[in-house]
Amino acid sequence: MNIAPIPTLDNAVNDIRLRTAAIVREQIIPNEAQLGSNQQLREEIRQEVRHQGLWAPHLPEEYGGMGLGFLQHAYMNEVLAFSPYSARLFGVVAPNSGNQKILLKYGTDEQKRRWLEPLVAGEMESCFSMTEPEQPGSNPYAIQTRAVRDGDEWVINGHKWFTSNAARADFAIVMCRTEVEEEGGGARERMTQIIVPTDTPGFRIVREVPVWGHTHGSHCEIIYDNVRVPLENQLGSRGSGHQAAQDRLGAGRVFHCMNSIGAMWRAFDIMVRHVREREVHGGLLREKQFVQGFIADSYMDIQAARLMTIHCAEVMDGGGDSRTDISSIKIFVPAAMERVVDRAIQALGAKGVSGDTPLAGMYTGARTLRLADGPDEVHRIVIAKQVLKTYDAGGNWDFGV
Ligand SMILES: Cc1cc2nc3c(=O)[nH]c(=O)nc-3n(C[C@H](O)[C@H](O)[C@H](O)COP(=O)(O)OP(=O)(O)OC[C@H]3O[C@@H](n4cnc5c(N)ncnc54)[C@H](O)[C@@H]3O)c2cc1C
Repeated sequence: MNIAPIPTLDNAVNDIRLRTAAIVREQIIPNEAQLGSNQQLREEIRQEVRHQGLWAPHLPEEYGGMGLGFLQHAYMNEVLAFSPYSARLFGVVAPNSGNQKILLKYGTDEQKRRWLEPLVAGEMESCFSMTEPEQPGSNPYAIQTRAVRDGDEWVINGHKWFTSNAARADFAIVMCRTEVEEEGGGARERMTQIIVPTDTPGFRIVREVPVWGHTHGSHCEIIYDNVRVPLENQLGSRGSGHQAAQDRLGAGRVFHCMNSIGAMWRAFDIMVRHVREREVHGGLLREKQFVQGFIADSYMDIQAARLMTIHCAEVMDGGGDSRTDISSIKIFVPAAMERVVDRAIQALGAKGVSGDTPLAGMYTGARTLRLADGPDEVHRIVIAKQVLKTYDAGGNWDFGV
């Protein structure tokens, strides 16, 4: 990937973008075939990323990150995510990145020292345990996993699934119901997030749920059976779990979209290079108007998704209410990615669904993103509610802020 400085961006962001692209182009893409198995190579690239000050763009400098805002991060990440291997090599990978964000915002100094710092340093892994098989994940008020206080401990009982990364994790952040209806209080104040080390007795992984036939993501089904942790493992104040989940998922959704932009860009690049060389029926694919349509439609999908994500990041940095924009990109970007990757697969023929390109993984990833972190329908409802509420209050929608 060759990129030029963006004329309207300041030098510092352009410099970050160019240096990120150089590492992706020179060290990651040529080594993609072996990065999955070669730990030493992964560590060498991580060292180079750290040496260049490009580690953990989403975190403040005092915690070993770059201290970038969402907007600067969006500009960096679209080139970073050109390779599906980059996120882990730049220290910004889900679910750790989202957990780092909530530990930063809600964690005590001791929790930051014990959990956040090793997580940022890459010495620990984590997971986020919210969704339950018996309850609709799209309704966060439905959670039944219960934490009951017993002396100076929380005792947790419940059943979760799709806790990604759990089999590798040193600790889970678990969404628990700590307040019950009879005790009063609003529906939004009934949950609390609690940090559970995964070696605590009673934390039991039932299985890694296969997704698209694979268990790579370690999306685990877990039983919490009388799991006891000290009260100081409570993250934030009692009853703040719902808000903390919103904060975590909000940032996480934007990170996912930034990654999807890079992935789309890569799919586009693979497709365009291929159609310039592949001959069918006495001519190059590039000469067929069907294929020219693929190029044009994908260009528009990528640029629209990219600008929507940049706008969302701008609103977040400006301290505005970003809920509508987050929901918009959460719907639009994975769907655009699905279309772009689908066209690339079509243009490549059988090779497109083989393991010889990253397209097959991108395709299932894009489809999954339409469910994970809230399905499309729920986000459509959020957008409509926000817009109607504004008009009901006598205003009109301002697309600029
Ligand atoms: C690969 C993957 C990784 C995940 N990782 C994690 C993780 O790390 N931690 C975690 O806690 N969870 C995780 N999840 C769970 C994810 O967040 C949930 O799947 C998601 O919130 C949807 O919940 P659900 O699957 O229970 O679907 P349900 O809530 O049962 O919804 C099913 C369908 O109903 C429809 N629907 C829902 N509400 C409405 C509505 N109001 N109007 C119209 N239609 C509606 C939608 O089409 C939706 O897809 C992951 C999921 C996947 C697929």
